[in-house]
Amino acid sequence: MREHYGVVTPMHNSRPRRVAVLSVHTSPLAQPGTGDAGGMNVYVLQSAIQMARRGVEVEIFTRATSSADAPVQEAAPGVLVRNVVAGPFEGLDKQDLPTQLCAFVAGVLREEARHEPGYYNLVHSHYWLSGQVGWLARDRWGVPLVHTAHTLAAVKNLSLADGDTPEPAARQIGEQQVVAESDRLVANTTEESDQLVRHYGADPNRIDVVAPGADLTRYRPGDRAAARAKLGLDPRETVVTFVGRIQPLKAPDVLLRAAAELIARDPESTLRVLVVGGPSGSGLARPDALIELASSLGIAARVTFLPPQAPDRLVDVYRASDLVAVPSYSESFGLVAIEAQACGTPVIAANVGGLGVAVRNGETGLLVDGHRTEDWATALQSLVSEPGRLAALAAEAPRHAENFSWEHTADGLLESYRMATVNYNYGHGPSEFSPRRGRGLWKLRRAGGVR
Ligand code: UDP
Repeated sequence: MREHYGVVTPMHNSRPRRVAVLSVHTSPLAQPGTGDAGGMNVYVLQSAIQMARRGVEVEIFTRATSSADAPVQEAAPGVLVRNVVAGPFEGLDKQDLPTQLCAFVAGVLREEARHEPGYYNLVHSHYWLSGQVGWLARDRWGVPLVHTAHTLAAVKNLSLADGDTPEPAARQIGEQQVVAESDRLVANTTEESDQLVRHYGADPNRIDVVAPGADLTRYRPGDRAAARAKLGLDPRETVVTFVGRIQPLKAPDVLLRAAAELIARDPESTLRVLVVGGPSGSGLARPDALIELASSLGIAARVTFLPPQAPDRLVDVYRASDLVAVPSYSESFGLVAIEAQACGTPVIAANVGGLGVAVRNGETGLLVDGHRTEDWATALQSLVSEPGRLAALAAEAPRHAENFSWEHTADGLLESYRMATVNYNYGHGPSEFSPRRGRGLWKLRRAGGVR
């Protein structure tokens, strides 16, 4: 018989029935590509959908950012989004979110208290702010905590773009605590796993490497001419596209400078740069900053800007492009690179972080070391001036992308959950202070029955 708190009866042969997923700072229902919404939102939603298809109910807790948000929304069958009121709906900066973590955790605990004990079998937190909440929920409910960092301050601060603000030391302290408290950590790549060990002292035996994915049913190769017609792009031009949040870290300016250099080298070039996304954070966040840069570089007429696009339209963006550029200074993975390749579009990417896994250098795209304009212009030119080479990369790209699906990700996460539950039950349980478990359970653990 399984007791209330998911602790006494081992679950190592079964899946959790219901998982509380924490995504404090951004909702999985937000449009990605602007503000704080990006790959993590897509990850949380898509992995939840796949998990629900495998019979695991998922409830995603996020901070309500509009009075119009219903307290609970169904995102997909088996996937609920709970909008927790914690602080003002609008105008709260991301750096002020730690002030609202108590309010948020109160909302999460109150929701759980409305149900029978043992309602959630596991907590999965995304990003360090959620990890702080997850750590408390885990102790309170007596269930394992799995954490995915998505980005790490220590890593980000090692490769800042010009004008980017370093992540505060307080974040790194918070991340460190979450790493220490989690039953398992999920890393996107082995490199990220090494970073968790090196910079945060994580136990390598508690890290699971699970690659993110792309919706391969949506992102598929298609007719380029039709996609161009839909977007109003000239079929004779060579289109190089940036998709993502407009921020210094993502470096769309590197692409614009390289394009200007390439056009200066070859005035006959038919190059067009397409920039898709909205402002985020500081620096390039001013909506007109990139437009002004294009003008000052003398290539305003060669650059097209589109606001953030929903996935249905994004498919056309990828299909319409000859090449997608991901020039980021730091990238824990880079979903855009996989989505583009899945649509049969090669990728030119900075040789940083997960992009070295997402792109197969020389086979499905090109990895460029550093961010110097001349290097990027030369790399771009080596592709756009050789249609045969581009076509070969384009042919290989979807085959590589097939390795990355949300189905694979969900399977990897479920295995991580299984390991977390086994660890939790047989040796690496939480701290002794766990109010809801009470003395009886504590005694049982002391007697060797639980820990
Ligand atoms: N995205 C989108 N519409 C846009 C721009 C981006 O839906 O206009 C999505 C894109 O499909 C991808 C995610 O935002 O899934 C960005 O993820 P990525 O890992 O590339 O970057 P991150 O935002 O995590 O830094």
